[in-house]
Amino acid sequence: MERTKKMTLLAPFLLCFFIQMTSCSTDYISQKTQNLMKSHPLIDGHNDLALQLRRLYRNKLSKINLRTINTTRTNLHKLKTGHVGAQFWSAYVLCGAQDKDAVRLALEQIDVIKRMCNEYEELEFVTSSQGIQNTTKIACLIGLEGGHIIDSSLAALRMFYDLGARYMTLTHTCNTPWAQTSGGGPHKVYQETKGLTEFGKEVVKEMNRIGMIIDLSHTSFNTSREVLAISQAPVIFSHSAAYALCGIERNVPNDILIKIKENNGMVMVNFHTAFIACGKTANISTLADHFNYIKKIIGPEYIGFGGDYDGVTGFPEGLEDVSKYPLLVEELLRRGWQDFEIKAILRENFLRVFSKVEQVSDKVVPLLLNIKYVQEGKSVFFCIIFCVLCIVIKEFPKMYF
Ligand SMILES: [Zn+2]
Repeated sequence: MERTKKMTLLAPFLLCFFIQMTSCSTDYISQKTQNLMKSHPLIDGHNDLALQLRRLYRNKLSKINLRTINTTRTNLHKLKTGHVGAQFWSAYVLCGAQDKDAVRLALEQIDVIKRMCNEYEELEFVTSSQGIQNTTKIACLIGLEGGHIIDSSLAALRMFYDLGARYMTLTHTCNTPWAQTSGGGPHKVYQETKGLTEFGKEVVKEMNRIGMIIDLSHTSFNTSREVLAISQAPVIFSHSAAYALCGIERNVPNDILIKIKENNGMVMVNFHTAFIACGKTANISTLADHFNYIKKIIGPEYIGFGGDYDGVTGFPEGLEDVSKYPLLVEELLRRGWQDFEIKAILRENFLRVFSKVEQVSDKVVPLLLNIKYVQEGKSVFFCIIFCVLCIVIKEFPKMYF
């Protein structure tokens, strides 16, 4: 009886102690997150702000203030709060523009991204892994969303690279004549395309050669597998999650995760509720499950962030805009992720992938001599061989007789 009385008296003190400890550990994790993200600003693989600029403001930047705009989930103030150090802005073009004005629309999206990045001193347009590392601002990069943008032209692909695009998602929600989209896609075009065609393989090789990252989000499993079988450079999923946790074809199944590890590429995890919880409600923990799962299958070296903000509508409770990334990092720390693993997914993994893509590009044989990569080079190649043979045949008798 006496003992029960003592326990009753002690209970409020124990409760206070427990609350104190919990708040201490919350403060500690929050502070640790801030420190980690300050030293390793996050690189995000996919943001559709440019789509919203077209949809809401017809790309008229003069009508808005990007620092404080609140009709979108992204603004400069929120990016800073979220410790975003580099952002791939998506130059997205709707599938309905395929074989029509897709090239022009992509040019207009690249134009608005470049103007945005040049007009705001908080941003800096970069085109290399070194560029991301050199800047103290938020690095701006361009990703082309949808292979239909190049209109089946390697020349157009190369020109988009020259304009600064550094990845291309091989399909959006429609097949192209050369690559198959995930789940059949809502746009019933080029239904005969299965996986990657011969021209699709040429696109992959040309992307390797010029140093443009291959993005497999939105592609069919077969397309992904076929690209992974031939790409000399690491590839990414710029905004996809784990298929085992939400079985839709926009996500990555285990066998492809393993191929991504072998390829030294990465999956930048999508935050969209429909992809992480298959339409059910989701919170920070639901998303952290995808990070944990991919880590369990292939390790933390192949994971990154692909928020997909402003491209879709549903986001997990607590992760409503780009200022909220630190809350996800806090959750991962609470789940036992080590500092070096957090640094890897924030930044280092993507820099590894990007610099390897650049190295592969440097090593590939120059354009004129590469008969395999560029069909147009064929005649030039044979011409050179023919000329050399002519000289040898002409000079040979003089040298020896
Ligand atoms: Zn997308």
